[in-house]
Amino acid sequence: MDTVLIANRGEIALRIIRACRRQGMRAVCAFSEDDRGAAYLDLADQAICIGPAPALKSYLNIPAVLAAAKATGAQYIHPGYGFLSENAEFAEAVTKAGLTLIGPDARVMRMMGDKVAAKGAMIAAGVPCVPGPDAVLPDDPQELARIAEGIGYPVILKAAGGGGGRGMRVVKDKGALAEAFAITRQEARQFFGNADIYMEKYLQKPRHVEIQVIADSHGTALWLGDRDCSMQRRHQKLIEEAPAPGIDRRLIADIGARCAASCRDIGYVGAGTFEFLYEDGAFFFIEMNTRIQVEHPVTEMVTGLDIVALQIDVARGAVLPFAQGDIQTAGHAIECRINAEDPASFVPSPGTITHMHVPGGPGIRVDTHVASGAVIPASYDSMIGKVIAHGADRAEALARAQTALAELRVGGVSCNAALHCALLDDPGFREGGISIHHFDDWCAAQEATDV
Ligand code: ADP
Repeated sequence: MDTVLIANRGEIALRIIRACRRQGMRAVCAFSEDDRGAAYLDLADQAICIGPAPALKSYLNIPAVLAAAKATGAQYIHPGYGFLSENAEFAEAVTKAGLTLIGPDARVMRMMGDKVAAKGAMIAAGVPCVPGPDAVLPDDPQELARIAEGIGYPVILKAAGGGGGRGMRVVKDKGALAEAFAITRQEARQFFGNADIYMEKYLQKPRHVEIQVIADSHGTALWLGDRDCSMQRRHQKLIEEAPAPGIDRRLIADIGARCAASCRDIGYVGAGTFEFLYEDGAFFFIEMNTRIQVEHPVTEMVTGLDIVALQIDVARGAVLPFAQGDIQTAGHAIECRINAEDPASFVPSPGTITHMHVPGGPGIRVDTHVASGAVIPASYDSMIGKVIAHGADRAEALARAQTALAELRVGGVSCNAALHCALLDDPGFREGGISIHHFDDWCAAQEATDV
């Protein structure tokens, strides 16, 4: 029986265990000292310790992950999201070790990980991008000013190797350009080891809308619908939904088809997401994620597909068993990310979960690795699960999400369920089509009311 080593933890590790079961594969879960004894590890066929708590010594430790794969007889490695999932060096090392990564190859991962190269590839494939050159910025201040004038202020400076919402700076006018450039350059070098910077138009009130794709190694690439992830705090998504409300379906179909075509152009194999900003009826590509995303379940709920199982299938060389015309979406799905954090200050709240009650009922799916007695370590992300609600339409999905959130009980640590309840009640969100700044505006309005 083929074996998959899961080089990740928490809810996504459990999600991958489930997909392995479904595909008749053995699932081996790698874990760090901090996750030893976690209940989800019992659900794998085998679990193997790969090092101490700090991620650099375990979940980000390439030799340790490869050694665990060898020791457990794994042929495949699933990296989940975060950690090594978009690390081209890791992808290369996996191949060199004679193993198969469940994800695209190192060449494609490297290209899409460099945002300037990605933008160039998208422009070539006819995918619309945010206005601005698909080239690295020069050092010459006059040339820099000329590029900014050409785009029109405000502009945004972004690190080519950036990620996680860091290495970006908005520039409102010419006077602020030189200093902003120097700081962004410094940050890019420090955080990403790549000093390259590029510039694009800063969009004022965009929505975040993305397209899910899946591609096999035989030249078939399909898009599986869209998601709206505009409810964000500091570029971290809080609520996601599928489909994106109020956007012309023909426009989405056109963008989706272009994304699928560009996968064929670049030789993409696996699941991936094209992220766009959407403003005034137009889409602008910002980046591609070459991995499974936290929010994939909303797409699964409306399409009925198992995206993680499909990832495994295409990595094993299978032909996608359906065509674009076979992909139908039904109803609406909403996902709320449940974090162990203070709902007001957003400060993580690690500790032991003394009691947990998971919601259920029609249309509800809860992806969590956590049960009563689980420990939320301080070393990692504070997400403890996702509550996903599906309904015949958006109103029903919203109502079901609210019922589910009201049922959720988490004891021993603080969690943000009450925040989600309030956000689902917000008239702006209920109307659909909020911008990426909505959450900040909402928080400011709450503070004003509290005073
Ligand atoms: P990261 O890889 O760090 O997540 P992205 O390029 O995906 O960086 O951008 C992250 C977020 O920054 C976007 O979701 C959006 O909120 C904001 N952003 C990025 N580019 C622009 C832009 N051109 N105009 C306005 N906002 C932007």
